[in-house]
Amino acid sequence: MILKLVEPAALKAPSMTLKEYIDTLGRIISKWRTPIIHVRNDRVLEEDVAVFNALAEFGVRYIPVSDTPGEAGEVSLTLLDPFHEVQGNGLRVYDSVVELVSRDTPTPLVKLRSLSNSDVRVWAKLEWYHPFSLSIKDRVAWYMLHRFLERGGRPAKLYEASSTNTGMALVGLGNYHGVKTRIYLPATTQRCVDYVFKAMGAEVVRERTPITISMLSKVLVEAARDNAVVLNQFENDYNFLTHLRYTAKEIDYQLMGKGVKPSVVVAGLGTSGHLSALSFYFKNKYGDVETIGVQPAQGSSIPGIRRVETGVKWLHMVEVDRVVDVRLEEALTGILHVARIDGILPGFSSGAAVYALMRLLNEGSLRGDVVVVFPDHGLKYVELLEMLLAEKCIEESAPGLSHE
Ligand code: PLP
Repeated sequence: MILKLVEPAALKAPSMTLKEYIDTLGRIISKWRTPIIHVRNDRVLEEDVAVFNALAEFGVRYIPVSDTPGEAGEVSLTLLDPFHEVQGNGLRVYDSVVELVSRDTPTPLVKLRSLSNSDVRVWAKLEWYHPFSLSIKDRVAWYMLHRFLERGGRPAKLYEASSTNTGMALVGLGNYHGVKTRIYLPATTQRCVDYVFKAMGAEVVRERTPITISMLSKVLVEAARDNAVVLNQFENDYNFLTHLRYTAKEIDYQLMGKGVKPSVVVAGLGTSGHLSALSFYFKNKYGDVETIGVQPAQGSSIPGIRRVETGVKWLHMVEVDRVVDVRLEEALTGILHVARIDGILPGFSSGAAVYALMRLLNEGSLRGDVVVVFPDHGLKYVELLEMLLAEKCIEESAPGLSHE
């Protein structure tokens, strides 16, 4: 048998649902091997459509094909160069901001002195290294829009409900593509965000609700009335898929470079896009990885994250070990802990994840290499910091920690 490797774009196959996709991809990732795909005249035969779509959406560079029906065999995923998209180009020179947002990978992964000790190394994925919203949401906004444009969509206007970051990324991308944007913000978003959006030329609609997703039905109705497109980060599967294709593979690739694999992954829950994808990827690939979601405690509001019962799509499609509650004041404690020992100032959802880790470290229940995602930077929350610091909300009795 001669193994032929072709680029995914050279083959045609009907698309499929997310459920079919992740069932198939989960099996492929857990073996890190894939069956050979059978083709005739560049069309994937019916029985192999699921495998082809899973590989193509996962972003491998090559697909292993045979035009001899029935010819069996499996190849290692490594042969298909699955990490080619997350390795970046050393020069970091780009022909456009869209190339910048899509190709400037990986974002940094840094070991935190503030949370590491002789048994535990905590690696923070710094997602404020993106050009539009200085947050993890650039990935999602770019990928949702990219896939929409790729299918021939030409939006006249883009409407989106966002607590800040997805909106800011879509405004930037909208400006680049010459598309007008209207962002619906919840009451809890800081006032200064209105001016940032205005400076960018976007329209801002302020709602009374404290939770972003509760604005969705109104946004959909108004968009239908105005002939605007809602990419809809809450339900658009490209949200989850961008983290599977890029964020998860980046972290894996970066840790492989260090010769380690994660024992625990911790991340905040908003749409559930990034935690669900990281959990799916690492649990399938390595099996014994614990994944932990972080949500605001009952009655607390933390920018960027919300409680599971407010409705999250992808968390219910994958396995996640537990979801922990953190209060706003505890998130601040997490921010200040990192800020005063490592010298970087993460945002509030990052601070919440840090606090969850501080508790686990204090219990002595962490070992090995732990990944925590920092979705954005603390400078975005100056109004909230001002309020909380003026009120002296710092928990002076924060869990004591030894560090390297
Ligand atoms: N943290 C911040 C600052 C965010 O903006 C978001 C999402 O908007 C999240 C965390 C949650 O990410 P996800 O929507 O992938 O669950």
